[in-house]
Amino acid sequence: MTNSQLTPGIAAGRLGAEDYARNFDDIAPRYDGHEARVAADRCYFCHDAPCMTACPTSIDIPLFIRQIATGTPEAAAKTIFSQNILGGMCARVCPTEQLCEEVCVREVAEGKPVEIGRLQRFATDTLMEKGVHPFARASATGKRIAVVGAGPAGLSAAHRLAMKGHDVTIFDPRPKAGGLNEYGIASYKTPGGFAQAEVDWLLKIGGIAVQNGKALGSGLTLEGLKADHDAVVLAIGLAGVNALRAEGEDLKNVLSAVDFIAELRQQPDKAKLPIGRDVVVIGGGMTAVDAAVQSKLLGAENVTIVYRRGQERMSASSHEQEHAASVGVRIIHNAAPVRVVGNGAAQEVEFAYTEDSADGLKQKDETFRLKADQVMKAIGQTLTGAPEGLKIEGGKIAVTGTGRTSVTGVWAAGDCASGGEDLTVTAVAEGRDAAEDIHASLS
Ligand SMILES: Cc1cc2nc3c(=O)[nH]c(=O)nc-3n(C[C@H](O)[C@H](O)[C@H](O)COP(=O)(O)OP(=O)(O)OC[C@H]3O[C@@H](n4cnc5c(N)ncnc54)[C@H](O)[C@@H]3O)c2cc1C
Ligand code: SF4
Repeated sequence: MTNSQLTPGIAAGRLGAEDYARNFDDIAPRYDGHEARVAADRCYFCHDAPCMTACPTSIDIPLFIRQIATGTPEAAAKTIFSQNILGGMCARVCPTEQLCEEVCVREVAEGKPVEIGRLQRFATDTLMEKGVHPFARASATGKRIAVVGAGPAGLSAAHRLAMKGHDVTIFDPRPKAGGLNEYGIASYKTPGGFAQAEVDWLLKIGGIAVQNGKALGSGLTLEGLKADHDAVVLAIGLAGVNALRAEGEDLKNVLSAVDFIAELRQQPDKAKLPIGRDVVVIGGGMTAVDAAVQSKLLGAENVTIVYRRGQERMSASSHEQEHAASVGVRIIHNAAPVRVVGNGAAQEVEFAYTEDSADGLKQKDETFRLKADQVMKAIGQTLTGAPEGLKIEGGKIAVTGTGRTSVTGVWAAGDCASGGEDLTVTAVAEGRDAAEDIHASLS
């Protein structure tokens, strides 16, 4: 190893092979059978279970935990998959501490919830590892549906539509299906090629063709898709990134955190990934935390997240923030970027302190600078590539509760659609619900 954490500038191979392996290993390994039984035994199997109400996909949580407790994890998995076909990924990435586990009666009474996410993973992994697909298609309807986007929303919609007997084609520009499951989620949450294994398993339902290298707006048009299909689902996510709107944004090594993570996810050998000695990440959400944590895990010496408002306004959960702090990421609140300083490439970022009051966010006169070999922008994603003619609301495609857009025959689901939480599990729920509505309208 020639480089270290102290090597100036941007360098690959800052750590030893064992460090990379440990840093990017599974953050919450799967329970074995005994651990799962013990965890399941803590559940009270509540009537009107609050955990179930808090789950965006309404999984019957007490039922699946009881199925684990009685030694039938495959049945538990089927209970999960009947509501959430990406239950395996959601078991790894859901912010359960803000959803089902937050309202678990054990959490409320004792400050320690039933570990619903880990139990879900135990059940879904058990079934998926057997290569079993638990659902069969209904008889063919002869209807053809186009799904645009192969992320969680598109995959969920496609699976439900295929199950109902429709023929589905998914179009996506990227070489692999999975959307942000494949290109966005932090590596240590879903190691070992799980995202692709899950896509392969999901497609076993049959009746779904995936066409990669196909983008709406570049070869594909909404009119064309409508003409060739009985319904269209738009599940294109949020492919754009907000601009910093600060001087020096165009300097070299000022990059999108999402692009950085996508490259990291696709590189099997993390030692080959160059990272700065000093990294500054600007933003306050999950993307900012994931970019910062993974920069640190790649061997950056100093990683700082800077967020323009107070800690309580950060959209990253307190669990995520604690995780960042635990790996050595520093978080500075109430500071906004004024300019990136450098001669051709970023060297420092200048920030102004801010004050968040009833009149809005104000920048103060006091400023400070942070050294930065790399500056990562994580200040939100935006909708790009939505076809003209669709009503847009709050920067997203306007939909009714079941995903109907303003154009007849066109549904939208996931991050690109109005409402929702921009979480994997919400995208899955919306894709499923749009599919059910399409099926009802075609029947
Ligand atoms: C860095 C990062 C980390 C995250 N971590 C978590 C997490 O830990 N837990 C969690 O719950 N959520 C997390 N999220 C949010 C979660 O990933 C998204 O809410 C979820 O992926 C949305 O699913 P989707 O199907 O709507 O969109 P996406 O996953 O973005 O998929 C959209 C798909 O559409 C395709 N597409 C785009 N434009 C076109 C076009 N013009 N034509 C055809 N196809 C197109 C894309 O290639 C992509 O495959 C994270 C997000 C990011 C950015
Ligand atoms: S709230 Fe907690 S204890 Fe009650 S059913 Fe859900 S997981 Fe079990």
